[in-house]
Formats: sequence, C-alpha cells, structure tokens
Amino acid sequence: MKTRRGFLKLCAAAGIGGGAVGYHDVFFHMIPFNDRGEKAPHPVYGRSDAPEWLHDRTTGEYRPNPDFALRHTVDLQCHSECGLRVKINKKNGRIARIIGNPYQANCRSDYLDYKMPIAKTARLPGTVCARGNTGLQTVYDPYRVTVPLKRTGPRGSNKWKPIAWDQFIKEVVEGGRIFADTDDPASKDLEVLGFRGLYEKRNEPMDPEAPEMGRRTNGLVIQGGRIKASRRKFQTRFANAFGTVNEFEHTNVCEVSHHVATEIVYPGKHAVKPDIRGAEFVMFWGTSPGDANFPMQTMAKYTAEARARGTRYVVVDPVLHRGGVGGDSAEWVSIRPGTDGALAMGMIRWMIENGRYNADYLSHPNQ
Ligand code: SF4
Repeated sequence: MKTRRGFLKLCAAAGIGGGAVGYHDVFFHMIPFNDRGEKAPHPVYGRSDAPEWLHDRTTGEYRPNPDFALRHTVDLQCHSECGLRVKINKKNGRIARIIGNPYQANCRSDYLDYKMPIAKTARLPGTVCARGNTGLQTVYDPYRVTVPLKRTGPRGSNKWKPIAWDQFIKEVVEGGRIFADTDDPASKDLEVLGFRGLYEKRNEPMDPEAPEMGRRTNGLVIQGGRIKASRRKFQTRFANAFGTVNEFEHTNVCEVSHHVATEIVYPGKHAVKPDIRGAEFVMFWGTSPGDANFPMQTMAKYTAEARARGTRYVVVDPVLHRGGVGGDSAEWVSIRPGTDGALAMGMIRWMIENGRYNADYLSHPNQ
C-alpha cells in the first residue's frame, strides 16, 4: 500500500530524473573539467578586448593600455556630429570600439573642463547613441563602396564594375564614348560631353530659345548630401568657378520649412533648440526624443533627465517611437497623418478664444 511519504518521494525522484534528462548537457558542463573548446584568454574579460585604460591599484591612477591607440574624431552618421573616441588595436590597425569623446558637448551632460588631462577621463566616458556605437560596421561593411563603380549593363540592370580612380577622372573630365565597353545598346554609341567639353561651351546659351535657362554650364547639376562648413564652401566655389547655378544640398529639400519659420520668428537665427532643462512642459511635434532630431543624443539625454525630474511632455506624432514616451509624465498624442495643421490651428483658436496667450510678448513681433 502506498503511503503519502512514498508518493512524494516517487514524485521528487521522477522530477529530478526528468530534469537530469532534459538538462543533462547543462549539468555536464557545470563540471569545470568538462569545459569545451579553447580556454578564454583572460579570466575576467573572457574573449573581449582588454580595456583601453589600465588601472594601477597602488596609485589609483589610470594609464592608456599600450596595445591600443585612442583617436578623437567626429561622427558624421547623422547631423548631430557627436565627438568620438575611437579605440584602435595597434596590432592590426582595426577599430575595436567607438565611444563618445567626453570633452564634446553632445557626449556628456555634465561638461568637462577642456584642461582636464585625458587620463582623468578614463572613468568619465562620453556617450554615443546606438548608431554611433555601430559606426565600425559602416567602416568594415564588405559592401561599402570605396572605389568608383561603372555601369556595365542597361540602366536599371544593376550591373556594375569597379574602375580605377584614374579611369573615372579621365572619363568624367574628357567624356567621349565612355559606355562603348558596356553591353547596353542604348548607351554604347552615346557621345558623352565631359567636364572639359562642357566648360569650353560656358559662353553658349543652354537653349537660345529659352535664355532664362542661362549658360550651357548650368547643365552640370551638383547634388550634395548633408554638407556643412568647409565642405559646403568647397562645393559652392567649385560650382561658381565652373559656372553652374544648379547646386543643391540636403537642406534645400529637407527641413527648409523649419529654417524659414525660425528665421521669421527669430531674425538672424535659422535654427534654435528647445531649452528642455529649463522647461516646465515640452511639446515634441513630429519628432520623438530618443529617436530623432538633433543633436539626437543630447536631446534624448536632456529629455530623460527632465522626465526623471517630473517635467511633463507630450509627443505629437502618428507613430509611437521607441523610447520617446515613457513614465507617467509623458503622453503620446496619436494624431492621424496629415492632421498636424488642423490640430495646431485648433489649439491656436482655443488659446485666442480663451485668452490663454501672452499678449505682451505677441505685441513685440520679431524682438
Ligand atoms: S546622435 Fe548618434 S549617430 Fe548622430 S552623430 Fe551622435 S552618435 Fe553619431
């Protein structure tokens, strides 16, 4: 006859037996001498790189690890242009890690004294966002385009071949039947006017019947990316010297509305940033802190700090982005796409009808 005690023993034995069968591999490798594979090179860091700073336990000081070089540069993966501290393995010259430059304003919210010795920043690292961290994937991406690619098939066929820089420059400058070596029937016999040929026609009109189109050299269209500062000046000087007015860059299309609006409200300024640290209430409209806007990580950090202090904010956006709305003090206003204008006008109307505006401020426009 089975007793209660006997029944429980049986259940326990069955449970242990079942667990042992299911987890036998785990149990087996919990025993140290059964470790498989190559032993990790370091008892603490395992297979990861050694740190870039070495700590002297007797003096408490940090000194650079001689196996690595630290180089400071700027991240151009977005418009924020955060400072970077790049750790480079001296043995193979490869980037081992990307962190923020702690001296740069985007990378810390408690700003460091520029006179602080670099070794003192060992325990005060700067931050970068997730994209900044993964910048080394861009550098080492096997599909990264590092040489000129020439089309070898019909347009849209996605057939390309790498060519030398000398060939690229010669064909662009001199022109000619540069697609004769391709298998594109539409381009094979095309006589392309190179930079030199176009420049020699600089005094000819583009179209005698349409003088408003200007000179032939307007046939050169320069479309830059997010170019700023000296890069912009170089492009503009080249366009002016060549004689084309068709020079564009990213901001010609994107965000030009906010530059124009800011200039109207704050003459002389084409971009202003919200004072999140001093605000009691923040409205993010069409931009989610933690995902967008620039300087992206600074805005995200300031918002996170403000949220921790209890500052209230709303995000007006059809999409609920990651990280943008969190905690009790944040709210997502989920408008439908294309209704931003109606919502803004409705709010303005409510303010006017209820006298909830600063009449004194509004009576001094542009001041
Ligand atoms: S916000 Fe991120 S991606 Fe943009 S520059 Fe800074 S680290 Fe790079």
